[in-house]
Amino acid sequence: MTKHLTALFGAIELGGTKINLAVGAGPDRIAARTQVPTRGPDETLAAVAAFFLQETRLRGPLAALGVGAFGPIILNPDDSEYGRLCPSPKPGWGGYDLLAALRRMMDCPVALATDVAAAGVGEAHCGALSGLDCGVYLTIGTGIGAAIIVRGAPLPALLHSEFGHLPLRRLPRDVTAGLCPFHGDCAEGLVAGPAIAARFGKPLNAFAADGPEMALVAEYVGQLCAAIVLAVSPKRIVLGGGVAKAHGLHAAATAAALRALNGYAIHGIGEGYIAPPALGDDAGVIGGLVLAMRRWKEQS
Ligand SMILES: [Zn+2]
Repeated sequence: MTKHLTALFGAIELGGTKINLAVGAGPDRIAARTQVPTRGPDETLAAVAAFFLQETRLRGPLAALGVGAFGPIILNPDDSEYGRLCPSPKPGWGGYDLLAALRRMMDCPVALATDVAAAGVGEAHCGALSGLDCGVYLTIGTGIGAAIIVRGAPLPALLHSEFGHLPLRRLPRDVTAGLCPFHGDCAEGLVAGPAIAARFGKPLNAFAADGPEMALVAEYVGQLCAAIVLAVSPKRIVLGGGVAKAHGLHAAATAAALRALNGYAIHGIGEGYIAPPALGDDAGVIGGLVLAMRRWKEQS
């Protein structure tokens, strides 16, 4: 059957503090978008439903919906709990069956990924991972998220990659306790936004690019990127999120990763290997629209 050229797709980027919503004929043709705050699941899903109801009344029904959601979330379609959130510190969300709620709300196929994976799919479609058959999207903000993107799609997994919780080697000069409630000194516990604020009293972008604060954070980010290089050997690491907006982090982290690797398996790693995202805050909804289009094509 020939595809209808004006099919409409929806995208949801469900983040810990805000939700980006969009509809469009494709990732390069966003027709409408909005942002709502993340609250409890019922209130949040009601706001999401209101946006799509308004847009579908105006533009017609959705052909498919692509969702990037915070996790941990069960993403293996063969799992009986596919689409359910794992225990989470976010009030009301632990154990919440997100996919079931979306299916009650939207009468169309739903493609589901983590929020980080959706952003990685967006960057692979038309951003900093474009043209690469294997890349990693890493985001350092309130937490640390990561996704392996292979040929434009998230790598299938039992749950999903959680590089942000890899253990790191504490630097002797760093005496601040790691903040991860599960692991203490994992990457998220040492170098996500709250850990930086606890250590320095300010966000990283308040400090000079050549100062000791940046040097310490870059050393940890470099350790994390070195571990990613050894485990995955991606062709590029895109580093985004609020912490990564601090000027100089990408270059300093690349240098630190090279020091951590100490000459081993460093072929192809140099300037630009740890790169900023190209799509900024749009990556998640662009990736969501890509995932929605793919799901629609699979089902037709
Ligand atoms: Zn942890």
